Amino acid sequence: MLTPLGLDAVRLSPGFWGDLRELNQEVIIGHCLDWMEKLGWIGNFRGEPARGREFADSEVYKLLEGMAWARDPRFDELAETVVAAQEPDGYLNTRWSGDRYRDFEWGHELYCYGHMIQAGVARWRTSGEHAFTDTVRRVADHVCQRFMDSAEVCGHPEIEMALVELYRVTGAERYLEMARRFVERRGGPALAEVEFGRAYFQDDMSVREAEVFRGHAVRAMYLACGTVDVAVETGDTELLAAVEAQWERTIARRTHLTGGMGSRHSGESFGDDFELPPDRAYSETCAAVGSVMLSHRLLLATGRRRYAEQAERTLYNVVAASPASDGRSFFYTNPLQVRVPGQAAEGVNPRAEGALRAPWFAVSCCPNNLARTFASLPAYVATGTSEGIQIHHPTPSEISHDGLELRVETGYPWEGGVAVHVVSAPAEPRRISVGEHADLRVWAPGDVFAVDLDVRPRWVRPDPRVDAVRGCVAVERGPLVYCAESPEGGPSLELVHVDAEVPPQEDVVDGVVELDVQAATLGEAEELTLRLVPYHRWGNRGPATMRVWMPGM
Ligand SMILES: [Zn+2]
Repeated sequence: MLTPLGLDAVRLSPGFWGDLRELNQEVIIGHCLDWMEKLGWIGNFRGEPARGREFADSEVYKLLEGMAWARDPRFDELAETVVAAQEPDGYLNTRWSGDRYRDFEWGHELYCYGHMIQAGVARWRTSGEHAFTDTVRRVADHVCQRFMDSAEVCGHPEIEMALVELYRVTGAERYLEMARRFVERRGGPALAEVEFGRAYFQDDMSVREAEVFRGHAVRAMYLACGTVDVAVETGDTELLAAVEAQWERTIARRTHLTGGMGSRHSGESFGDDFELPPDRAYSETCAAVGSVMLSHRLLLATGRRRYAEQAERTLYNVVAASPASDGRSFFYTNPLQVRVPGQAAEGVNPRAEGALRAPWFAVSCCPNNLARTFASLPAYVATGTSEGIQIHHPTPSEISHDGLELRVETGYPWEGGVAVHVVSAPAEPRRISVGEHADLRVWAPGDVFAVDLDVRPRWVRPDPRVDAVRGCVAVERGPLVYCAESPEGGPSLELVHVDAEVPPQEDVVDGVVELDVQAATLGEAEELTLRLVPYHRWGNRGPATMRVWMPGM
């Protein structure tokens, strides 16, 4: 098992992820706070007339979690508002107070607690105890008292991983046991049939029987995270192996090239195996956040690099794609093809779909989920063991663990060179690794471990069983997926086909590597040069069509 390194052990410097974290602290957190104040979601905690959806409390908690990881001074005031809303027996929900626990399918009460508990854990880990962490413990104790011997679960998994995380900071075994029971109860079934079927909330079978992730993609990811956490803390290797097998099949057969998950807009769900249409891809930003959390947990539990690689793919190509470069609008869905340019809309987007980023949504899970993810990014970069430090996501940073202090310098993902400078080291041998490259020896201050990661552009082909893109090709470079983007007035992408025999040519524009490929329009003899941009940057230049998969010649 690898030891996670917290925010005191890893500091990001300016670079790809450091800049996004900075944008989060400078813009995104405040943007989310302003919108939720304006829409009355924070006012719900002050007893103002109910506004927003039944799970709006969770959005405030996700932002609190982001603020806690960022050590944002606005945490105190917002936390105080939440603390004041707690009922004497620990219950806290602004929507169902007085009518509690009536609807486990759609009520989201335990789901909201889950996000609240995670916000509390973030506060604990970054700054220690607080009136808010007391409130969180009272909520968790209330949950244990009410649900330990019941048969109920929440329609939206989330509390499972939160309770295990709370167990890790408090050592209170009842939280772990409560999480274990919530995980094991699922599939009993424990919930009523709903319009999308029980698979929608993973209640169609037990987590041990399941062979693949199915149903609502965010729910599936969160449940799997909680299941891994329970498996790791209880030493249940069979349970861990079950999730690993589900992950393998899902990545091979139900995951888009970008790492995005979810093929059906109905139920925001996974499709069947190989059902991966690029234009109808749902690929919700939150599902990507959940996928990164899951892959990271599996990496920690097993040390297998493929989990870090999947987290990297998803971080660069979905999580980083959601926010606009100014941090003031977001993608909720992340399709791999857009046929009709979006129309700019101001205000709250009533629909999750859209070919342009929107400043806010009626269901605004994604922006707040990004806020907490970007704030906690340092925790994903590297892990430690008694042997040394493993760098999974090379990015400019300072990393320390067990007497070994490193400074990472790199232009990754634009450049492949990574220089790991040793700042201080113990007298005993230590292993430093960057991806698959590793060196074990006695290090001295001033030593440099230099590696060269392959970031040459490459053509990739889909599994032939993915009918929707059979015969198509796409371009990747390092961890980045590329796409053709055509703003209004640009060439039509509908009839374009590309020559995958010709290597893409690089062109650096404002520090970003763009690519030119040889292409033609079907039915026309004349060849043309098609410009590709990193997928995560598309849509920043106004309405446009876009495609990742392009028919080969
Ligand atoms: Zn979302």
